[in-house]
Amino acid sequence: MEYIKRKSLLYKTEVDFGDYAANHVLGCSHGCTYPCYAMMMAKRFGRVKTYDAWIQPKIVMNAEELLREEIPRYKNKITSVHFCFTTDPFMYGYKEIADLSMRLIAMLNDSHIKCTILTKGCLPMELAQLSSRNECGITLMSLNEDFRKDAEPFSAPYRERIGNLYQLHKRGLKTWVSIEPYPTPNILQQNIEDILDAISFADKIIFGRMNYNAAVSEYKNHKEYFNQVSNKVIDFCRKHNKEYHIKKGTIEHFPGLCF
Ligand code: SF4
Repeated sequence: MEYIKRKSLLYKTEVDFGDYAANHVLGCSHGCTYPCYAMMMAKRFGRVKTYDAWIQPKIVMNAEELLREEIPRYKNKITSVHFCFTTDPFMYGYKEIADLSMRLIAMLNDSHIKCTILTKGCLPMELAQLSSRNECGITLMSLNEDFRKDAEPFSAPYRERIGNLYQLHKRGLKTWVSIEPYPTPNILQQNIEDILDAISFADKIIFGRMNYNAAVSEYKNHKEYFNQVSNKVIDFCRKHNKEYHIKKGTIEHFPGLCF
């Protein structure tokens, strides 16, 4: 494992469903090939040069020290801290990163700050021992393992992700699923209903279309397609009394629907 030092840890995110976020690792071993927006930004700003460098994560060695300094400064402005938009807090097979993520979440909780957590790895059961206000989520764009091995090659198998999320749901935590980046049928033939059925226990669903992939715009009716799938997600959530958020730009004429 490699280490870096940073000057700050928490930042205000521009993601439409987020507030503050933590950035305690550079890179991400999951190596998503959609492509990964965080990797594109890291390349643009010169933080990594290649995909191979991106999938070798580097831990921010002064993360806990930074958080101790930043909590008093931001405490009154923060609604929640998200782990993470620019990396993954529970990278599959990286215990050192998972342990650091848990310590940072515990520090925020000790200051009565709620955390929202999202992973393509496996959520640790120890999360149930931290604040019950935390919200635990997984990203799930499909149930097709062959597709996962292409699109998210070093992430946790889908059934393992869902299983861990379900266990945390059983332990009383609020759970959510981010179904994104959702592909068009020329990339993958699948039914959104199958995914919704598999995570029907979750309290909240976020749905977003795939971006930055040429194959999506090559699919002639992609706007209508994302409208249709978004409407199915909305119908499902309304019928089952779940919170939902449709990410900006996914459904035409209704940017950033949130209920
Ligand atoms: S899990 Fe997220 S941060 Fe990691 S490579 Fe995939 S899209 Fe990028």
